[in-house]
Amino acid sequence: MSDEEKVIEPGLYVVGTPIGNLEDITLRALRILKGVDFILAEDTRYSSRLLRHYDIKTPLISCHKFNEASREDQITSRLAAGEKAALISDCGMPGISDPGSRTVKGCREAGVPVFTVPGPSAVTTAVSLCGWGDNGFTFAGFLSPKPGKRRNTLEPLLEGERPVLLYESPHKIVKLIALLEELVPDRQVAIARELTKKFEELLVGSPAELTEICSQRTLKGEMVVLIQGRQKKRRE
Ligand code: SAM
Repeated sequence: MSDEEKVIEPGLYVVGTPIGNLEDITLRALRILKGVDFILAEDTRYSSRLLRHYDIKTPLISCHKFNEASREDQITSRLAAGEKAALISDCGMPGISDPGSRTVKGCREAGVPVFTVPGPSAVTTAVSLCGWGDNGFTFAGFLSPKPGKRRNTLEPLLEGERPVLLYESPHKIVKLIALLEELVPDRQVAIARELTKKFEELLVGSPAELTEICSQRTLKGEMVVLIQGRQKKRRE
């Protein structure tokens, strides 16, 4: 069956887009983005680059954290009337440390069908690259910028045996590693940086070793931090 013959049912399509490398998009995502009536995008200018690359001319409507709530009724009533829309964020899966959850919930509550078109997410990409995901992991997204809150969120998470994954900005990475040096000096920590891009890098070491690396060069770009879980106590 050709793409033209495949029917796109009315409803909302939550579409995963690349986290860096524009080739990381599924054939289904491209077909849906081309075939829907409109695309809800976190940043229309940013997403235009991806859409231009794939010659997709579907109209874009901005849907970000500051207007998602006010747009909800307008969007759900269009979809309830039989239109089809795709929801995308700047990168990865919408609703993962990104806007989108409110639109998804609003559509469900209004009885609008919601479908997923999965794609990459930085969290799953990082944990599979690092090889620490075989027994589950805890994902905490971005920590608060406030030092006290960061510590209070992190401490209980570090009690678990599963690796903890965080999104972190390059401006705060040195402080985060310093906090880990204090809280879990003997654990392995990984920084997965610029995944799928030209300068992709995975740094693994103790917090002290990573501090040493950070003192020699500035770590730039997008990053996921992975912290090894608490080791099980050996039976005597
Ligand atoms: N929705 C996205 C997802 O599914 O991964 C996450 C969006 S969140 C606003 C952006 C954060 O994700 C970045 O600050 C960084 O921590 C992480 N991230 C996104 N792309 C990345 C990449 N290529 N390499 C490493 N981390 C990345």
